Amino acid sequence: MDRHDLVWNPWHGCHKYSEGCQNCYAFFLDKRYGRNTDEVARNKSGFDAPVKKDRNGEFKMPGGSNVRVCMSSDFFIEEADEWRKDAWDVIRARPDLMFSLLTKRAERISANLPDDWGDGWDNVTFAVSCENQKRLDERMPHLLALPAKHRWISLKPFIGEVKLDPYLADGKVEWVLAGGENYLGSRPLHYEWVKSAYESCKKYGVNFTFGQTGNVFVTDGKERRINDRTEQCVQALRTGFTLPAVDIEKEAQNIYDEKAAKKAAFEEKKKNK
Ligand code: SF4
Repeated sequence: MDRHDLVWNPWHGCHKYSEGCQNCYAFFLDKRYGRNTDEVARNKSGFDAPVKKDRNGEFKMPGGSNVRVCMSSDFFIEEADEWRKDAWDVIRARPDLMFSLLTKRAERISANLPDDWGDGWDNVTFAVSCENQKRLDERMPHLLALPAKHRWISLKPFIGEVKLDPYLADGKVEWVLAGGENYLGSRPLHYEWVKSAYESCKKYGVNFTFGQTGNVFVTDGKERRINDRTEQCVQALRTGFTLPAVDIEKEAQNIYDEKAAKKAAFEEKKKNK
């Protein structure tokens, strides 16, 4: 994605739903802070974050940004049925942002769209998270049947080979994102699976990003452990599986620069405390 990426969590909490949830990072992080992830709760202070303004009357989330929604939950989880109408109101009020709604509960989307959805809103892109062929076959028919202006597929965590061709042929999917698993007990990602997904995207003119290898990446039949997140991103980039193609060395330098900038900002903050 080339837009500035922001996160909006109108609610927090989820329930494990399929194989891809096994090492869910929301559960991992909540465990650290003694929070029960299975308790789904509306976010009190951040529910209306996209429409919040600063002292100058400007939106805190700048126009043109990409907003990833529900990174610690699922936008279509049952408990949120009573709050979702308010969330749609927030999305409707910001046509200048692109809201990315990623879900594993694809079969719940169509019954939970707003009344004025029509043939889709320009500022919403739907995605289903498909960790293997079984989940791809279950969820993609729902995604493709939806009235929607934008669609993409998340192969994260990518834990089993998938055949994407049947789901890309009609030109409805704009982008595929692939990535390996992290956190405790990571399952391996195979180079060949990524290559196959990349080649399907190339065949049908769909954008493709291999975001990171995950902790365990298998190349030439050998498992490699890559613990450092920055290295995971750079190693993924160096496979060349990006569509449209990018300048790999320039992008790799950007990743290193970004990491250095974040570290410097963190040190500065620590110093000023
Ligand atoms: S659906 Fe997403 S947030 Fe919910 S348990 Fe699964 S991986 Fe975690």
